[in-house]
Amino acid sequence: MIDFELSEEHRILEQTVRDWGAREVAPRIRDLDREHKFDRGVLPQMAKLGLLGVSVPAQYGGAGMDYISLGIASEELEYVDTSLRVIMSVHAGLNCLTLLTWGTEDQKQRYLVPQAQGQKIATYGLTEPAAGSDVRGIQTVAVKKGDRYLLTGEKMWISLADVADTFLVFAWTDPELKKQRNTAGISAFIVERGFKGFSSGTLTHKWGILAGNTGFFKMDEVEVPAENVVGKPGEGFKIAMFALDQGRFTVAAGATGLIRACRDASAKYAGERRAFGVEIAQHQLVKEMIAQMESDYQASRLLWLRSGWLKNVGRRNTRETGLAKWFATVASERAAGDAVQIHGANGYSDEYPVGRFYRNCKGAVIYEGTREIHKLMQADYVLGFRSDRPTRCELPPFGGQP
Ligand SMILES: Cc1cc2nc3c(=O)[nH]c(=O)nc-3n(C[C@H](O)[C@H](O)[C@H](O)COP(=O)(O)OP(=O)(O)OC[C@H]3O[C@@H](n4cnc5c(N)ncnc54)[C@H](O)[C@@H]3O)c2cc1C
Repeated sequence: MIDFELSEEHRILEQTVRDWGAREVAPRIRDLDREHKFDRGVLPQMAKLGLLGVSVPAQYGGAGMDYISLGIASEELEYVDTSLRVIMSVHAGLNCLTLLTWGTEDQKQRYLVPQAQGQKIATYGLTEPAAGSDVRGIQTVAVKKGDRYLLTGEKMWISLADVADTFLVFAWTDPELKKQRNTAGISAFIVERGFKGFSSGTLTHKWGILAGNTGFFKMDEVEVPAENVVGKPGEGFKIAMFALDQGRFTVAAGATGLIRACRDASAKYAGERRAFGVEIAQHQLVKEMIAQMESDYQASRLLWLRSGWLKNVGRRNTRETGLAKWFATVASERAAGDAVQIHGANGYSDEYPVGRFYRNCKGAVIYEGTREIHKLMQADYVLGFRSDRPTRCELPPFGGQP
């Protein structure tokens, strides 16, 4: 049976996050954006709402909700501002769900529990100054010395780089395989901000997601205990890709929220602004843009819901999640462009929110797989050039044993 109803629990979560965003963040977001200010004060509030561990089982400090709840929270948060959803993507999606799936019991107790409770904030460090889409091009290395690894390298364009306490970091552990660009030589590590040799900074010239923190971190022979290797040595690439299945899900749901925000702002403005003796809502070309936003919103929502359902029942969803992320982010760029258009010159000023939506949406067309990478992936699935092989660890189904 196909069931399109949200559960009572989903609806309560949706309303709660919507009310919180409208009350606590929406009135201040224009100023935060203008000041390029990340407000750390939202973190304890999000923790109190259970959002920072939304899909982490209660036994590991989370709210124990299903994966559709993670999508609902992401959609509602990005409706207000992308910076809020980014917190969910890197902390709850890319990091927590990866530790839940690949972490040892000791790692879950030491890192996942405080993260899910919101006492510690976590992020994901894959990208480097010279390597984004081409993951094999990363240069960070981890050299084994007894029961520790020495990590040296620089990560760039990292969300919450200057905010997070813990980092899921990817580095080459096998120099021979690095030369051959064989991803079996990459490993994943949990790195703490407090480890000696770690430093971070904020990127100050960014032009979107200005109320969010994006930065870099450097590691100069940072000593990481061997018990902080996530998965087995050599499983880092698979883990990085696994994490993206979770992060992309939040990005897809978030972009869906941004399309809805564009639609709502545009419909409101179109009902107020008059041109040629009528509200601009009466002009068919304006209606066309609003209709496109509505169809993009509904299609994007169905795509991320399907992906969330696949996660809930424990089925591999790399293909479906990638499609949801690609479709929704590209559609969000269209929606934001048209929202500015509908607002005319007023859309070109930050007196109205649509200019912020326009700046914010573009990041998601780049991160967690660029538009081009997703396009190639989807074509390759259809053409039979690509298929998903089972991995040693799979995301636990909702209610299943992690
Ligand atoms: C706001 C923001 C936040 C981010 N947060 C994080 C984070 O928290 N953690 C993290 O690890 N990274 C993060 N990133 C980095 C992001 O994941 C990378 O920017 C992304 O993977 C693209 O890499 P790149 O910028 O190096 O572009 P490149 O890989 O250099 O790509 C440049 C262009 O070439 C195209 N291209 C590249 N290869 C191909 C190909 N094979 N075929 C066709 N076209 C191709 C791309 O599509 C793109 O248009 C963030 C980025 C932004 C903008």
